Amino acid sequence: MTKKTQCPICGEFEVSRQIRAVTHTFKGHKLEVMQPGEYCDACGESVLSPADLKATAKEIEQWRSEILGRLTPQDVKRIRNGLKLNQKEAGAIFGGGPNAFSRYENGLARIPKAVEFLFKMLDQYPNETTSKAVSSVINLSHFVSGPRKGKHAHG
Ligand SMILES: [Zn+2]
Repeated sequence: MTKKTQCPICGEFEVSRQIRAVTHTFKGHKLEVMQPGEYCDACGESVLSPADLKATAKEIEQWRSEILGRLTPQDVKRIRNGLKLNQKEAGAIFGGGPNAFSRYENGLARIPKAVEFLFKMLDQYPNETTSKAVSSVINLSHFVSGPRKGKHAHG
């Protein structure tokens, strides 16, 4: 048995780590996810750590972006792979830093509209001219940004 800890809300020693079915509502749609977290059996309060939220973020963002008609985390990954760029390279070229695409593709952030527009264009009109234009811009971008030194605290 898991030892129960004290609830910061009601004070009862009824908090344990569980995975519960949690229903999200968005624009009239419903999605049930299996949400890990610390749950209190006395008052029903839940405490979700960043890792708990990360566990369901991709599924929730996939669902929300489909409802909104925006690129989903899966779409972003597919189009980026089509451009033959890894996440770091994509972040350097389209902006947002080295972790930006990891965040988009894990549902932790939504891709900026300007980048999304470009990605939709590249996805819908994948022809030779577009590919050539993209590779020339990518080469230029590598040349301009050059090797990165140091680490920024803020990504
Ligand atoms: Zn409680």
